[in-house]
Amino acid sequence: MYKCSQERMTDMIKTFSKFGDAGHGGITRYSLSPAAIQAREEYTRRMKAIGAEIEVDDVGDMYATIPGSDPNAKRIVMASHVDSVKNGGNYDGILGVMSAMEVLTTIVKDKIPHKHPLTAMIWTNEEGSLYPPAMMCSGIVCYDYLPEEIRSGFKYEDMMASKSILDNKSTFGEALEKSGYKGEKKYRLSPDRYQYYFETHIEQGPILEDNGKDIGVVDCVLGMFNYRLKFYGQTTHAGTFPMPKRKDAFLAAAEALVYLHDEIDKLGYPELVYTTGEVVCHPCVHTCVPDYFDFSFDCRHEDPKVLDKVLAIVKSCENMKWAGCTCKVEKAWNRDTVYWDKKLVGYVKEACEELGVSHQYIHSGAGHDAQFASYVLPSTMIFVQSKDGLSHCEPEYSSPEHCTEGASVMLNAVLKADKD
Ligand SMILES: [Zn+2]
Repeated sequence: MYKCSQERMTDMIKTFSKFGDAGHGGITRYSLSPAAIQAREEYTRRMKAIGAEIEVDDVGDMYATIPGSDPNAKRIVMASHVDSVKNGGNYDGILGVMSAMEVLTTIVKDKIPHKHPLTAMIWTNEEGSLYPPAMMCSGIVCYDYLPEEIRSGFKYEDMMASKSILDNKSTFGEALEKSGYKGEKKYRLSPDRYQYYFETHIEQGPILEDNGKDIGVVDCVLGMFNYRLKFYGQTTHAGTFPMPKRKDAFLAAAEALVYLHDEIDKLGYPELVYTTGEVVCHPCVHTCVPDYFDFSFDCRHEDPKVLDKVLAIVKSCENMKWAGCTCKVEKAWNRDTVYWDKKLVGYVKEACEELGVSHQYIHSGAGHDAQFASYVLPSTMIFVQSKDGLSHCEPEYSSPEHCTEGASVMLNAVLKADKD
């Protein structure tokens, strides 16, 4: 068994945490921003130092590759992202890139024999926090392989025209040109040149820590649906209109949300998660009774039958009256559970066992570039324990020991895959 270097991992965590340092323990590192370019330059410097060759595709995804002993073998790629959300942490995404770099560095420094060329990759704009949507560039690159319903959200021209949330004017396409990282389409991740895909990521939840496990052997990304519930009432004056005669859309939505929680919790699925995180209120003035309110409803579970049961409850809202208002239920989008490649999941599990690392099977509740990559190549993921389950915030933390263990697990799993 081979092990990665905790000293190098600690040094990388420290170094990359400087790029976009927001001054209170975390980073804001939007894709293609000066801070993200600094991270790309550091990656380039480190990968060139071990003799890796670097290619950049037409959406700025970067591929650093060391050769293997078989010139005809396809590449095994390890990937993640260097961009963050606003005031995010020092581990989301970047840990996967650091782990990939650490695997290549260990292999070169320790002269570990391998057959396949091995690649450490950076995906551009995974978070979509400045230029939506999330997973933009894996969506573009994997476009031809994605189911129609998913791919329609990732048309190249639409993505290039995606506007900055800050000025609502400058586009992703302009930022890409300006960054100097617009390379060539021929370098895109494809089954012609690549054989397997691995992604190491922080868990972003509390399950591993609660169970006293360091590493998660990820088996799937949960299926989910995203709906909008819209409520229509009547605006009137807040001071003059008697309560019993009102049609208050906000009150209607509040009653419906409580109904949803009550009914869905009665189903009794402990692993089911559902969230209302986005709302619209009209006219949103304190002297007016709202005539319109809508909220998002995001629901995730592995089993499509469970999702169907929840959806039936959500849809039942349409047939009921809420505080004198009507309700419309509209689908935004959904996706099926994406299962990782069984053989690769097995390699990750074996690597954990052989290294003596405490581990368990786990599902991913969050979306990752790996889920799009999995339509192109056999793919899998490795999770590293997150302290207190926190992510997308500055206190996000994974210990150097756990981060290094994650890299060592990926190293040994990749070496098993290398024998195929
Ligand atoms: Zn991420």
